[in-house]
Amino acid sequence: MIVKNISRLRKIISSVPNKFIYFVPTMGNLHDGHLHLIKHAIEKKQFLVVSIYINPLQFNSKMDYKKYPRTLKRDLEILKKLKADVIFLPDDNFSKDNISKVSLGKITYKLCGADRPGHFSGVATIILKFLNIIQPDFLVLGKKDYQQILVIKQVIKDFFFKTKIVEMQTIRDKDGLALSSRNKLIPRKKKHVSKNIFLTLKSISREIRMNGLVKSKLEFYKNSITESGIDKVNYLEILKECDLSELGKKPAYARIFISVSISGIKLIDNLRISKKVTFRSGKFLLF
Ligand code: AMP
Repeated sequence: MIVKNISRLRKIISSVPNKFIYFVPTMGNLHDGHLHLIKHAIEKKQFLVVSIYINPLQFNSKMDYKKYPRTLKRDLEILKKLKADVIFLPDDNFSKDNISKVSLGKITYKLCGADRPGHFSGVATIILKFLNIIQPDFLVLGKKDYQQILVIKQVIKDFFFKTKIVEMQTIRDKDGLALSSRNKLIPRKKKHVSKNIFLTLKSISREIRMNGLVKSKLEFYKNSITESGIDKVNYLEILKECDLSELGKKPAYARIFISVSISGIKLIDNLRISKKVTFRSGKFLLF
C-alpha cells in the first residue's frame, strides 16, 4: 500500500503484529541494485517498508537535484509486483523549511564528505526522520555507498536506535560498473569509459595482493583514468573500512574508494581488499 501521511504510517507500523520491520530507503529510479536490497528484505517474510524520496538536503547543487532521474510510475509498479508492504512517499513538507540538521564530525572529513560539503548532514537528517517515524528493526543498505553506511551507523549509535544495519553487496553491470541511477545521465558517447572505474579498483587491489603498492602509484592510476576519457578523479584513496582513517603499521581491513566525474556526473565505487593491510615505508602491503 502507498502511504504519504506520517501519522498514518505510524499507525500502520504500530499495528504490525509479531513481525520485524525491514526498511529500505531509496531515491527511486529503481534498478537491480535497489532490487537486490528489496528482495533480500522480502525473502525474510517480515514487514517491509520501502521509501522513495529524492532528498533535497543531500544535494550540493540545485541542478543536480533537478536532473536526478524520476520514474515514480514505473517504480510503484515494480514495488507492487514485489509486494512491499508499505511504499512510503513523503511529500515536499518532509524537509521543507527544515532547520535542525545532524552534524557528524570526522567521519565526513574524507571522501564524499570532503568532496560534497553538507551532503552527509543532509543524508543523516533525513535518515533520522525515517528512523524516528518507522523505528525499523533492520535497515537494508548497499555497500556501494560505503561512507553512507558508516554515517548511518553513527546516527543509530548516537541517537540510541535499536535498528540493525544489513549491508548488501554492490550490484554491477556486465562491465563491472556499479549500478546507479546516475549512470543513465552519462552521455552515450562516454558510456564505454565508465568501466575503467572498477577496472582501476581491481588493478589496485591486485597490486597490493601481489607485491604491495607504493602510495605515490595512486597518482599513476589517477592519470590513467583521466587519460582513458574520464573527465576528473575526485578522489582515489585506500582507507581503513571501520572508520575511514589512514592505515598504519597495525593491520586493518581496508577499502579502495573512488569518485570520478564524467560529463559533470559524479560516480562512486569502492572495493574491499580481501585480507588485512598495513602501511609501512610508503607502501600498502597485505598482512
Ligand atoms: P539511492 O536510491 O541511490 O539512494 O540508493 C538506495 C539504496 O540502494 C542505498 O542503500 C544504496 O547504497 C543502494 N544501492 C544503490 N546502488 C546499488 C548497487 N549498485 N548495488 C547495491 N546497492 C545499491
